[in-house]
Amino acid sequence: MSTLLEVSGVSVSFDGFKAINNLSFQIAEAEMRAIIGPNGAGKTTFMDIVTGKTKPDEGVVIWGEKSISLLKMSESQIARAGIGRKFQRPTVFEEQSVYDNLAMALKDKRSPWDVLFFRPDKQGAEKIEAIAAQVGLSDQLHRLSGELSHGQKQWLEIGMLLSQDPRLLLVDEPAAGMSPAERDHTTEILREAAKTRAVVVVEHDMDFVRKLGCKVTVLHEGSVLAEGSLDHVTSNQDVIDVYLGR
Ligand code: ADP
Ligand code: MG
Repeated sequence: MSTLLEVSGVSVSFDGFKAINNLSFQIAEAEMRAIIGPNGAGKTTFMDIVTGKTKPDEGVVIWGEKSISLLKMSESQIARAGIGRKFQRPTVFEEQSVYDNLAMALKDKRSPWDVLFFRPDKQGAEKIEAIAAQVGLSDQLHRLSGELSHGQKQWLEIGMLLSQDPRLLLVDEPAAGMSPAERDHTTEILREAAKTRAVVVVEHDMDFVRKLGCKVTVLHEGSVLAEGSLDHVTSNQDVIDVYLGR
């Protein structure tokens, strides 16, 4: 399968500290990938670089079949090119219904100005219902988002991202603070999403990563320490020394 995103030789320093150090990473279309690694390994900074929030000092970041460089693009241009990102804390509009949050996210793709006055057409309404079903919120559509559980808010936010049809979805620690049942549901949502797009999941919980059933990249000190199946990387002595054995 063809490469969707290629990061090569990327480094970034903050006040002389190399948070990302000659990092290379590739993901294909419709691939799921987990990124694990100790605190401070550079996982979030990696996502900041891909989404244009942080510009690297060196290296290249290449996107799509036209091999476009993301480095000269703004965060909003990168988002419009098809890269969606979920931050650790949910950022749903609590005073709005689940339905309206999804409607706004759908609208957002076309024009950001009048999102609050948006009423979807039939096609939009069908899409909202399909996405609600995909994230398991069909029977919550008319509730206020602020009344949802932590897990449901996270699913709503994933739904809001999916409504924009990203070709790459970046998800930072989605299972944090979730119950085991909520985690399993989150796994299902991400696995389903990865059938039609690339999904990169940063996660600490090994049980969660195992259920994702995908290739794993281990980051350490801003570089790739190991890559392969979860069993492959967790039996790697370097990985045991810096991450698992601690
Ligand atoms: P992870 O997500 O793997 O825990 P981060 O990417 O958040 O790691 O951080 C990697 C390192 O870079 C940490 O030492 C962190 O303190 C540092 N860092 C990240 N962002 C900044 C920033 N904007 N300014 C200064 N240091 C930063
Ligand atoms: Mg982080």
